[in-house]
Amino acid sequence: MNFPEIKSLDESYVLQTYGRNQIAIDRGRGATLWDTEGKEYIDFTSGIGVCSLGYANEAWAKAIYDQAMKVGHISNLFYTEPYARLASKLVPAAGMAAAFFGNSGAEANEGMIKLARKYSFEKYGKGRATIITLKNSFHGRTITTLKATGQDHFHEYFFPFTEGFRYAEANNMDSLMAEADGDVCAVMMELIQGEGGVNPLQREYVQSVAKLCREKDWLLLIDEVQTGIGRTGTLFAFQQFDIEPDVVTFAKGIAGGLPFGGFLVNEKCRNVLRAGDHGSTFGGNPMSAAAANVVMDALTPEFLAEVREKGGYLRKGIAALNSPCVSGIRGMGLMIGVGVQGMTHKELKDRLMAEGLLCLTAGKDTLRLLPPLVITKEEIDKGLAVMAKVMK
Ligand SMILES: *Cc1c(COP(=O)(O)O)cnc(C)c1O
Repeated sequence: MNFPEIKSLDESYVLQTYGRNQIAIDRGRGATLWDTEGKEYIDFTSGIGVCSLGYANEAWAKAIYDQAMKVGHISNLFYTEPYARLASKLVPAAGMAAAFFGNSGAEANEGMIKLARKYSFEKYGKGRATIITLKNSFHGRTITTLKATGQDHFHEYFFPFTEGFRYAEANNMDSLMAEADGDVCAVMMELIQGEGGVNPLQREYVQSVAKLCREKDWLLLIDEVQTGIGRTGTLFAFQQFDIEPDVVTFAKGIAGGLPFGGFLVNEKCRNVLRAGDHGSTFGGNPMSAAAANVVMDALTPEFLAEVREKGGYLRKGIAALNSPCVSGIRGMGLMIGVGVQGMTHKELKDRLMAEGLLCLTAGKDTLRLLPPLVITKEEIDKGLAVMAKVMK
């Protein structure tokens, strides 16, 4: 089918809940994609930070195929090797104590919220269930994670929302202290606010929050759905902030393109959720877990060093454009935000797409770049050449 045929079917039969780009993606290789009309693109999106190993990765595809031919799915009432093997890699590499596997970011955050409330309930009883999150955050699309998201425009239409969330200004301890009543059980935050505009939190702030959490026995909940699994140049971003979360969630990049999400807990939280407290039909299913094992095996110290190095190279390349459309460059590793001025971030994204470069937007004025972690220097250079053409 060509693009107009696909679009017409979609508009007839699919809920139109996305502001879609006006192309249909057909296939890819590495960090290069082709649309149904045969046009080639450099990909700085990886499907919103998902396809960490790029497209058509042989080891990834083979692991999924091989697992599908053994057993593609079986319920979590049985043990499976890919699941156990994955946990045995992820948990020690993150310095945590145990894992729970689900399917998506919002679901991972829901599990983390459940855990925080149960921890507090068992220790302190009722009335201590509030979770402080940050303004401008994003934690997901379920009724509870929408409410956890610190942006008012997500709190419309779908009443009643889950109670028990209050919002503090990022990088502002006074604002957090103003919410520090006796009803609080946890603080939940992203270390780089992704959807909110690629805003990294300040290191001193994050460390002060961690210290306050320890003093008050609030759980420190870190949402690494976007920043985790090598995206920022370490397995988790928290490892660059010198903090020890009680619970950390991950999702997007973990299985390289199959649905997968989950959370890791420290020793203190290891026995909070017990048999019957939490679960998932598909969570950690053997095919997704087999794919995630391939991603984890790829994330060697050398590979992560390359992610940091390529991120620096891309940021320098954008800075060197001296573009009048750029108001600033932020981010860590291959999670990069470019402040856009003189036109909207969406206009710039569309112009880059027309010239063969796919990017994302975030916040009000940010072009967001999340290339596959395996992107080559040549592919980065091709992307920069498109940026030079459009933005100079
Ligand atoms: C994408 C994202 C989510 C939601 O993940 P889904 O898989 O879409 O449910 C939650 N938190 C953060 C930080 C995200 O970037």
